[in-house]
Amino acid sequence: METDVIIIGSGPAGIQSAIHAARKKTKTAVFGKIAHSSLESAHVENYCCMQGVSRGREMLLDGKKQAERFGAVFFEEDITKVRNNGDIFDLNTENGTAISAKSIIFALGIKRNTLNVKGEKEYYGKGVSYCVECDANFYRGKKVAMAGSGSAAASGAVLLTAYASEVTLIYDKTGVNEKLLQQLADSGVKMLEGAKIVEILGSNSKVTGIKFADSTEYPTDGIFIELGAKGAMELAAQLGVELEGEKFDYIKTDKKQRTNIAGIYAAGDICGAPFQIAKAIGEGCVAGINAAEYAKAGGAVKR
Ligand SMILES: Cc1cc2nc3c(=O)[nH]c(=O)nc-3n(C[C@H](O)[C@H](O)[C@H](O)COP(=O)(O)OP(=O)(O)OC[C@H]3O[C@@H](n4cnc5c(N)ncnc54)[C@H](O)[C@@H]3O)c2cc1C
Repeated sequence: METDVIIIGSGPAGIQSAIHAARKKTKTAVFGKIAHSSLESAHVENYCCMQGVSRGREMLLDGKKQAERFGAVFFEEDITKVRNNGDIFDLNTENGTAISAKSIIFALGIKRNTLNVKGEKEYYGKGVSYCVECDANFYRGKKVAMAGSGSAAASGAVLLTAYASEVTLIYDKTGVNEKLLQQLADSGVKMLEGAKIVEILGSNSKVTGIKFADSTEYPTDGIFIELGAKGAMELAAQLGVELEGEKFDYIKTDKKQRTNIAGIYAAGDICGAPFQIAKAIGEGCVAGINAAEYAKAGGAVKR
């Protein structure tokens, strides 16, 4: 199969890229599983032009229909291989389908690192969260914990004090700078050093507390987990796409969402924080337009 633009990822970044690329009359194919998007299980209340709380899954399914209306074709298959073959890119899916394209958009999202303890999966969305910006508002007047030792966890704990009645940062050894330490102190975040979480406790489908390795328990209404994230970098590495970030786990792009490789674009969480729909959509729009222009010019757009 040959196409103009291939989008790897069917989350908000991929879907928005598809809407813009397909509207430019380029043959546009989207690969990936909607159910694996971070948005799938989200309840969203901070995306513009919406009343109340919207369900992520419905947003994704509506977005897919919208992109299909403009001609984008969706495949519920993951891409496993990608090669640069002169002016085109050759890709293979997990089912062995071979496709080629003039341009590619990486919109693979990220996988958040987990504590990997009992109760974490069970209470996900019921008191366990990986995103302060998304969920802080659900903890107004409640008692919450933040697990993590880096600056993202510390900043998240400070932000939570604007909502929760009590915030405790549970960390191993903090590597954060003096300024952030001062902010933690000024905002009244309680600090719990060296307590190893072994279980998240709950009842009636709600988090009620945390259990530590020394068998003590800590009552809380919710726990935010901020242990960093992994991007799906294997595919990017196959093409020599330049990465950035503390652990080189995000794709580096310019303002046109171009990577260092001509014809390859990236959008959404895979390009780094903030991990928010609004950013994924904005970057998807830019990537979709520019990838389509590149494909229409037969790969001749000058960088
Ligand atoms: C519980 C939760 C609640 C959230 N709430 C909010 C909120 O209220 N507001 C907000 O703005 N943001 C929220 N977010 C964040 C938001 O969901 C993400 O920022 C957004 O989904 C990022 O979009 P994306 O398209 O970059 O990545 P994703 O939505 O994660 O999509 C990535 C896509 O790539 C696909 N993929 C991965 N590997 C491959 C491969 N090899 N081949 C093909 N496809 C592949 C996946 O299947 C998926 O379709 C929340 C996230 C979570 C987890």
